[in-house]
Amino acid sequence: MAQKYDYLVIGAGFAGAVVAGELARRGDKRVLVLERRDHLGGNAYDCPDDRGILIHKYGPHIFHTNDKRVFDYLSQYTQWREYQHRVVANIPGKDGRLEYPVPFNLTSLEAAFGSQEGKRLGEKLIAAYGGEKKVTILELRQNADPEIAAIADYVYEHVFVHYTMKQWGQKPEEIDPNTTARVPVFLSRDDRYFQDTYQGMPLKGYTPIFEKILDHPNITVELGCDALKRLELVEGAIRLDGETFDGGVVYTGQADELFGFRFGPLPYRTLDFGFETLDKDYFQSHGTVNYTVDEPYTRITEFKHLTGQEMPGVTTIMKEFSRAYTGGEGEIPYYAIINDENNALYGKYAALSAQYPGLHLLGRLAEYKYYNMDAIAARALALADGLLGK
Ligand code: FAD
Ligand code: UDP
Repeated sequence: MAQKYDYLVIGAGFAGAVVAGELARRGDKRVLVLERRDHLGGNAYDCPDDRGILIHKYGPHIFHTNDKRVFDYLSQYTQWREYQHRVVANIPGKDGRLEYPVPFNLTSLEAAFGSQEGKRLGEKLIAAYGGEKKVTILELRQNADPEIAAIADYVYEHVFVHYTMKQWGQKPEEIDPNTTARVPVFLSRDDRYFQDTYQGMPLKGYTPIFEKILDHPNITVELGCDALKRLELVEGAIRLDGETFDGGVVYTGQADELFGFRFGPLPYRTLDFGFETLDKDYFQSHGTVNYTVDEPYTRITEFKHLTGQEMPGVTTIMKEFSRAYTGGEGEIPYYAIINDENNALYGKYAALSAQYPGLHLLGRLAEYKYYNMDAIAARALALADGLLGK
């Protein structure tokens, strides 16, 4: 029987959808996409809840990039709603709770230390590092000047250490420094969470992007299908449904699972999401509020702020609780835990995958990396370039 497909793509999140769409459109390839969940979009999936509020089922997703190619690519599939994400830390203060911008910036400094003292300290930081500069908390903690060290201690205690303990079960200095560097101290009045050139939310949500990308005569999508039940990797050969598959395979799931966890499981953090629908216009002032000192959850997101949806009298919020991933039924591995030991373990799986010339590991799970959506889209476009020789 002639093989029906040129490519098999496993997973219909950003990685799988973008590569499948490009192989079909630019390369006229026939692509089979297998997705284990009963919907497209992977962790970027969104849908209306029972009251009609558009929610992000797997955590808040805000699009931002400096990559023009990625922005232009996605703009073929969606219009954008102007949205600049702003986050505040909510902490217990002397007279009730206090909120100030995160990343911690010059405005936060004044809220924390008082207007006059905050201004003076801000000038001192700018003299040390330069205006509009970003300084990671770990860098700031290296500064020997007693006043700057006191600011670093304050920010460490009120913004980083408890949030990081909740999110990772480890202290900021124990985790990959690139993780806390995502949210540096910013010597600026700019209170946006991201400074990227292109930012926004897809006007109709994320899911329609995936529907459009995968809507092509050369693409077949099967939802609710665990590809590992149909795929066999044996001594350099790939079999699909019991027959040799000579086409390319783009795998976007967990690398350890693909090889039966033979070197042991890769560690991850998972999340539990607590959704609450409230009979009021709005619950909080910002799309996301980080609870950086107390509460068992890391942050609360209120979706109407993100999506701009107008729904008077009702709103949905979501609390995020992080814990170790155990591989239990229904658990999703959201965050790779990047460190030397885990990278070395991942390296064993990557080396094994290299024994299969047609097999490509792509995406946040398959590459065991902390990638944002834009980075994944960029990598998927680059992989398609490579596979199509253009
Ligand atoms: P995924 O979205 O995980 O897709 C992989 C897909 O493969 C899944 O649908 C899975 O079901 C499927 N799959 C796995 N194994 C199999 C199998 N055996 N058979 C069939 N299917 C399989 N990025 C941003 O840019 N901005 C944000 O604001 C942002 N917020 C985030 C918030 C949270 C809480 C999290 C966890 C991530 C966030 N991200 C954000 C990152 C973003 O989710 C990822 O960059 C992106 O979803 C990665 O896409 P992917 O295709 O690599 O992986
Ligand atoms: N972080 C923190 N306090 C904050 C925000 C972030 O300590 O208020 C740290 C924490 O370790 C977190 C990391 O910075 O995991 C990256 O934060 P980001 O908001 O980028 O995480 P994501 O949205 O990917 O979960």
